[in-house]
Amino acid sequence: WRNIMINVTKTYLPSKEKYQKYVDEIYANGWVTNNGPFVKKLEKKLAEYLGVKNIVLVSNGTVALEIAYRTLDIKGYAITTPFSFVATTSSLVTNDIKPIFADIDPQTLNVDSNKIEGLITPNTSAIVPVHVFGNGCDVEAIDKVAQKYGLKVIYDAAHAFDVKYKDESILNYGDISTLSFHATKLFHTIEGGALIINDDDLVEKARYLINFGIENTESIPELGTNAKMNEFEAVMGLCMLDEMEIVLRKRKDVFRLYEKELSGIVQFQEKNNYSTQNYSYFPIILKNEEQLLRIQNALNEKQIFPRRYFYPSLDTLDYIEPKQYCEISRDISKKILCLPIYPELEKNSQNKIIEIVKNTMKGL
Ligand SMILES: *Cc1c(COP(=O)(O)O)cnc(C)c1O
Repeated sequence: WRNIMINVTKTYLPSKEKYQKYVDEIYANGWVTNNGPFVKKLEKKLAEYLGVKNIVLVSNGTVALEIAYRTLDIKGYAITTPFSFVATTSSLVTNDIKPIFADIDPQTLNVDSNKIEGLITPNTSAIVPVHVFGNGCDVEAIDKVAQKYGLKVIYDAAHAFDVKYKDESILNYGDISTLSFHATKLFHTIEGGALIINDDDLVEKARYLINFGIENTESIPELGTNAKMNEFEAVMGLCMLDEMEIVLRKRKDVFRLYEKELSGIVQFQEKNNYSTQNYSYFPIILKNEEQLLRIQNALNEKQIFPRRYFYPSLDTLDYIEPKQYCEISRDISKKILCLPIYPELEKNSQNKIIEIVKNTMKGL
């Protein structure tokens, strides 16, 4: 039996021998969680690799967002994007912060920075943009609005691992950026996430918050939760880090081939000229939902499963209050499809995907 299914992504598993050696070390020292030596080591190595000052590792990317809001005391309303993975919005709602959606730019797929200012009210305390598919937001314009109105900026940078903006990590923009290290992401720790905190004074608070609010055995200064990363996850990260060069090179090859073969046939995401790419997703934008469904069905017939990232548009969710309508995001979300992209995607499989997309488009 051979698994011939091709999904939108496939978890990259680094050297098993190396992972086993680390597991032997964990067994030998008996320290499996609670800010252990490998979590500390991964924090140090990631800070160097990414070019950031402060990094706090946590158990996943969703909780990273929640800890970010609580570290910065976000209350009331936050202006965010309707075109993202649901966690960007649900993390706000579960923390009693109301999401106010600024519609997106139909080319870059990021929040339209010109639409933020008009939505600001005295109840607004934050802006929560997303670097969608690793495409850098208009960070300078967003910073400017935030400063003018004294708002905090939390970037959901779940897709933006290793992305640079004008030669510097894009994670250094805003007050806090959050990362997801879920198994499906570019860099992963099985489950995991991180906060990149630009104000040194807030790091300690975030560390209390992820550990029940505890400072030491006798002092509990904050209302916290449990959001710790464990040692088995941290060593997966250490193994991944050693292989990121291969991961990025192989993804780039896949990305470039799609780009070359599908150029002029489907629409691509327009890239921010000041930011680098990490080749984490390959979205194609079709003319309408009917085209999308035809392509999806044709691929599904060959056991190829692209994903409708992101669908539905988050302003359509039942639990959103007040009700909102973002025309561009709703339109894009109906006609965007992410094609399979991962380091081990074989060339002949990719050629098959390209052929199916091309042939389907011919008949439309
Ligand atoms: C994956 C993802 C998250 C959530 O991260 P988890 O680690 O899965 O909790 C949040 N936001 C975006 C944009 C994501 O893609």
